[in-house]
Amino acid sequence: MLLLLRAIGAMIVFLSLANVANAKGFVEYWPDADYDPAIPTIESVLGYRSGERITWHRDTIRYFEALAAAAPDRITLHRYAESWEGRELIYAVISSPRNMARIDDVKANMQRLADPRLTSSAQATSIIADQPAVTWLSYSVHGNEISSTDAAMMTAYHLLASRGDARVADILRDTVVVIDPVQNPDGRDRFIHRFEIAEGLEPSADLISAEHNEPWPSGRTNHYLFDMNRDWFIQTQPESQGRVRILQEWYPVAFVDAHEMGSNATYYFSPEAVPFNPHLAKDQTDSLELFGRTNAYWFDQFGLDYFTREIFDAFYPGYGASWPSYFGGIAMTYEQASARGLVVRKYDGVEMTYRDTVRNQFITSLGTAQTVAENREKLLTDFYDYQVTAIDEGRTESIKSYIVPTQDDQAAADKMAGLLVRQGVDVGRATETFSACGESYAAGSYVINLAQPRKRLIRTLLDVDVPMDDEFVSEQERRRAKNIRDQIYDVTAWSLPLMMNVRTDACNRAVRIDSEDAGPELVLPGSISGGQGSVAYLVPWSSAPAVRLLAHALRGGMRAKSSDLAFTHDGRRYPAGTVIIDTADNQGDLRSTMEELARRTGAEVIAVDDSWVTDGPNFGSMNVVRFNAPKVAILWDTPTSSYSAGNTRFVIERQFDYPVTAIRVSTLVHGDLSGYDVLIMPEARPDYGPAIGEDVVAKLKDWVERGGVLIGVGNANRFLADPKVDLLAIRRENAVVESEDENGDKKPKKANGEDAEEPTVEGSYVTSDDEYKAKITAEKGAPDSVAGVLVKANVDPDHWLGAGAASTLNVLVRGPDIYTPIRLDKGVNVAVFESADELLASGYMWEQNRKQLAYKPFAVAQPAGRGFVVAFTQDPNVRAYLDGLNVIFMNAIMRGSAHARPVR
Ligand SMILES: [Zn+2]
Repeated sequence: MLLLLRAIGAMIVFLSLANVANAKGFVEYWPDADYDPAIPTIESVLGYRSGERITWHRDTIRYFEALAAAAPDRITLHRYAESWEGRELIYAVISSPRNMARIDDVKANMQRLADPRLTSSAQATSIIADQPAVTWLSYSVHGNEISSTDAAMMTAYHLLASRGDARVADILRDTVVVIDPVQNPDGRDRFIHRFEIAEGLEPSADLISAEHNEPWPSGRTNHYLFDMNRDWFIQTQPESQGRVRILQEWYPVAFVDAHEMGSNATYYFSPEAVPFNPHLAKDQTDSLELFGRTNAYWFDQFGLDYFTREIFDAFYPGYGASWPSYFGGIAMTYEQASARGLVVRKYDGVEMTYRDTVRNQFITSLGTAQTVAENREKLLTDFYDYQVTAIDEGRTESIKSYIVPTQDDQAAADKMAGLLVRQGVDVGRATETFSACGESYAAGSYVINLAQPRKRLIRTLLDVDVPMDDEFVSEQERRRAKNIRDQIYDVTAWSLPLMMNVRTDACNRAVRIDSEDAGPELVLPGSISGGQGSVAYLVPWSSAPAVRLLAHALRGGMRAKSSDLAFTHDGRRYPAGTVIIDTADNQGDLRSTMEELARRTGAEVIAVDDSWVTDGPNFGSMNVVRFNAPKVAILWDTPTSSYSAGNTRFVIERQFDYPVTAIRVSTLVHGDLSGYDVLIMPEARPDYGPAIGEDVVAKLKDWVERGGVLIGVGNANRFLADPKVDLLAIRRENAVVESEDENGDKKPKKANGEDAEEPTVEGSYVTSDDEYKAKITAEKGAPDSVAGVLVKANVDPDHWLGAGAASTLNVLVRGPDIYTPIRLDKGVNVAVFESADELLASGYMWEQNRKQLAYKPFAVAQPAGRGFVVAFTQDPNVRAYLDGLNVIFMNAIMRGSAHARPVR
C-alpha cells in the first residue's frame, strides 16, 4: 500500500514538474546531457529519478557503492566516522584515472604544500606544476536541509558519466573532487522518517502541512541534538572529529558546506557577508568572488535567482564555512531555499519542487569544481603562500608565542593542548623549567610558538578577543537605536582559554626550550599517589576528571562522601568538595578499582593510611556529606529547546559518563517523579508557561519539598521565577530606561508615564533627540538581546554549589535575560556577575546590558523544604564547550542531591 502511495505521489510530482520545468528531459539537469550507460543512474539503483524522493542515508551509500563498482578507476569510497546511532559516514574521491593511480602522492603533495618549513618555494612550484587541486563538497550537515545529499549523488554521477559537458574532463584532470554526501546521517534519517509518516495520496505544497513541519527535535541536529555546524573547533561530536581528521589528510583548496534556508528565499553563495574574521588572509576573501561569479554565470543560464553578501558571515570559526579556511583553502557556505518535502508553495504562490532544489545544489557543486579546475595553479599557489605568510606573521607580530603554565586545573590545560594538536597545531610540552616574558614556568607547561602554518587558527582560538570590523559595529549600534534587528549572526566570543578556564599567557618572544610534542589525547591517564589506602582514597575536587571519577564510582555502586570545607591532611591542603572514599565502606579490591578509575577518568587520587586531619573537618564531620548516586532526569520534547536539552544530556552522559533519563514535558501531568533525585529543566522555546499547568507546578513544589533538586537552565528560569509559579524567589528584569538628570548624569527612569485609563494624555514639548528617543522607547521592554559574549562571574566559596569551581568563571551570556539577585533570607547567590567595569571578558556587548548585568546572579541556590531549586541564569552547557562551568554545574547534580534530605 505504501509503495502504491509512493508511486502515485511520484507520478504527481512528475506531472507537476513537467509543467514547471523546461522540457529538457528528466534524468539529467544539464541541457543536452549525454551520459555513459555503463555508469548506473540513480533510478537504476534506487528505483526513482533524482529529485523524486528524498534519499535515505543507507540508499545514498548504496548508490555510491554502485558508482564505485562501475568505475573503480575514477572513484573510491572511504569510511571516516560512525554516528551515535551507528550510521557510517563516508566520503567519495573522484578524479581522472591518472590522478587516482597516484592518489597517495597527490595527498602527500598537499601535506608538503601545507608546511613550508619542509617544502621550499622552489619545491612548491615544482609540486604545483603537476598537482590536481582538491575540491571538497560537503552536504547536509543539517539533516533537515535535504536537497544537497541528492545533489551529491547527481554530481558524482555527472562527473563519472557525462560525455556532453566539456568541463568534466578538465575537472577530472585538474582537480580531485571529494564528496561527503551525508554529514549528519542521524538527523537526515530522522527528517525523512517523519516526512514519510506524514505523506498522503499526493504531496502537499502547503507550508503548514505536516510534511513541512517537523516534530521536536528537528532533523537539523545529530543524535545529541548538536548543531554540528558550530562544532568544528571544539569537536565534541564523533562526526566532527572524523571530518577534522580527514581534512588534514587532503587539504582542499575549496571547501563547500551546502545548506538550506527558509522556503521563501532563493539561493545564496559567496562572497560572504561582513564581518570577516580578521584572521582570514586577504587573498582568501578575494577568491570568494571567483566562485561566486562562476555560480552566478550558471544561474543566469538557467534563469535562477540568487543573492550574495547578506546574512551568512564567516566570523565565528566553528562553521564548515570558516574552520577549513584556517588551513589555507577557501571555505564557503551555499544555501538553497528548502522545499522541506517534495514540493512547497512560496509566499508569492510559486511552487518550488524538491527537484528544483536538488538541481540548484548540483549546479553550484559543478560550478565550484569548475572554478577550482580553472584556477588550479592560483589556488594551489595561494594555499602554499597562506602557510608562508602565516609563519611570517607568527615571527613578526606582537604575540609570538602562547604559554600554558601548569595550573590547578591541569586536566583542562591538557585537554586544550590536545584539542589544538587535533587541529594541526604544533604544541610543545616543556621538559625543563624556563623563564619567558618575565615569568618562570614549570616543566610540563605547554608552549605554542606562532611561527607555524596554523598561526591564524591559533590566534583566532586563543586570543582573548577577536574584534569585529569597526564599521560593522557602528552599523549595528545605529540599527539597534532604531529597533532594527542587528546583523550579528552568532556569538562574538569563543576564546578557548576563557571558555575552558585555562590560564594562557601571550608572550612577545618565541620560546626556545627543550620540549616534547604534545599528543592529541584529551584526557591523560590519572594515577594514585600517597600510601596504601588502608583508610581512604581522596580525590581533590577542582577539575572535570574528579567529577568523572565520582560519577563512575557512584554508578559502580561504591560509597563516597565529600567535605564541604577545605581541610589539611598530612601537610597537604585539600579543596572544599574533595571526595573521600572510605576503604571500610567499600568491598572488594578497592586499590585496583581506584587505579582503574584514576587511569580511565584522568583524576588525581591520593591514598591515605590515617584519617588525622590537622585543619578543617574530619572525615566523619557533619561538614562531610554522603553521596547518594542520584537518579537524574531532564525535561525533553516540546517546549524545551532541543539544543539545550540535548547538549546538557550530552555533557552529563558523555563527558561525565553518568546516565540521564529524558522525560517529556507532557508526561509530567501523570508521571511519578518520586524515583528521581534531580530534575533538570533545560532552556525552552519559547517558554514553559503554556505547557506546565498549575497542577504540575504544585507537583514540582511538592517533589522539591520532599527532597528533590530542581535545576533551571537559562531561560527556564523565566518560568521558575514567574510570580505565578514562584518556584524561585528571583525575578526577571525589564530594561532600565535611562534619562539625563539636571547634572547630565544618566539615571534609570520610567518611560513616558502615559496613563492608560484616559482617552487622551498630557501634552509635552520634545526639545532634544534624547527626549525623543525616550518618548519612543518601549515601556517595560526586556533588555536588548546579546548575541553571545563571555562575561566574568565570581563564585562564593562557602557554598556547596561553588566548591571546587574556579573563583572567577567565564559565562557565555546570550539573549535578553537578566535576573534580580536572591535575598539572603530566601537563598544564596553562589555565582554573581562582576561589576560593570570588570564584567566583559570577550566579545561585543551592548553598553546597557553590561551596566545592567553587573552584580546580577549567574548561579542561585534556594532551599525549599528538604530539597533545593538551583538556577543557572545562562546555559552552562551551550555546545558543550564551556568546560570552565563543568564543576559548578555538576555540583548542582552530585552535591545538590547529597545535600538534599529526601523523604525515603
Ligand atoms: Zn544549515
